Amino acid sequence: MFILSEQELKIKSLLQQLKKQAGSHSPSIWQLTEHLNNIKITIDACFLSNPYATDLFEEYLQKDLISSGKLREILEYYPSQNAAIARKLSPYLNVEADRIFIGNGASEIIQALLHHFVKKRMAVILPTFSPYYEYAREDVHVFFHYLKKENEFKLNVPLLFKELEQWQCDTLVLINPNNPDGSYLSQATLRTIFEQGKQLEQIIVDESFIHFAYEDDKKSIPSCISLCHEFNNLIIVKSMSKDFGIAGIRAGYGIMHSEKVKTLLKNGYLWNSCGLAEYFFNLLSNSNFLDKYEALRLRYISEMKLFYKLLEQIPEIKVYPSKANFYLIELLGDIPAEDLALALLIRNGIYVRLAKDKIGLRGEFIRIASRRYEENRQICEAISKIFY
Ligand SMILES: *Cc1c(COP(=O)(O)O)cnc(C)c1O
Repeated sequence: MFILSEQELKIKSLLQQLKKQAGSHSPSIWQLTEHLNNIKITIDACFLSNPYATDLFEEYLQKDLISSGKLREILEYYPSQNAAIARKLSPYLNVEADRIFIGNGASEIIQALLHHFVKKRMAVILPTFSPYYEYAREDVHVFFHYLKKENEFKLNVPLLFKELEQWQCDTLVLINPNNPDGSYLSQATLRTIFEQGKQLEQIIVDESFIHFAYEDDKKSIPSCISLCHEFNNLIIVKSMSKDFGIAGIRAGYGIMHSEKVKTLLKNGYLWNSCGLAEYFFNLLSNSNFLDKYEALRLRYISEMKLFYKLLEQIPEIKVYPSKANFYLIELLGDIPAEDLALALLIRNGIYVRLAKDKIGLRGEFIRIASRRYEENRQICEAISKIFY
């Protein structure tokens, strides 16, 4: 039978305190290691990044900046201005530079969009990435459209538009694939939504996990950037933290109508990037780097799929289908999600995301990021062991 020990219960209450301090996000790995000094986190399956991409970035950084001694320049001087970095990024994104806005992480872009362009009424799909409602101005009403676990979190487009009409929203937010469930909107579905949503002031599509999704055998990245000329109200938000595994340097971009970029730049954001982020953005015009990245993006995707198959074999959990690099898992037995997460952490050093605070989720859920193959295997083994 599954029982937490005295010691484990003590740690449980300490963790609850840390979680309270972290609000709607998880306590960072720094916080955990500082406060739980007898627990060693060996696998971080909470943060949603491609570890192979981090290896690649580190390799380039070491060679280009550290070994060469150029790091000092990056520390000493200002980075380029927002529009200058946008110009360098333009060929990679295949979109005009005046439509690109560079952010200190996508979080800053979300904040900028919500503060400057959302008028009065905004629709958000639940469950979601919480800044989309948390950063809304006080005078904005946020409406929630719920995805249901019974439908495997699949969006029902006619139902959504019925609600949008009732609510008279000016803004719709979509995350594709969605965080935390990984549900995916095909390019065809998105086009239908954009056609029907032309009267909206803006449709924000957050593509932070799009590098893990695909619709064809070549696994091409199904981004909707190419549609931004056809649909003037389309805004794309993209973090570089997850696919490139570089959350620490804070890099993201937004693609939107050039008038909107102008408005934002009039309000600041001139040197909002940092030198390391600019160095990273420069790598996106280095074909050598891009080729290597592509190879390990494909490798990571195939390992994600193997992870899914392993998780599916555990009878006590339900794994929801996902085109992102993480899986939302529902516990079917009587072990609470919190206790499973705690046991994984204490007994195995595996850190997963408890989804308890995600509004719009009913039931016992945890979200597990795909890591390296061997780590994924260990995670499955550890979960199975807890159940037996
Ligand atoms: C993590 C995340 C972000 C924020 O990413 P940063 O670039 O690190 O600020 C934005 N949107 C979604 C959907 C995310 O999951």
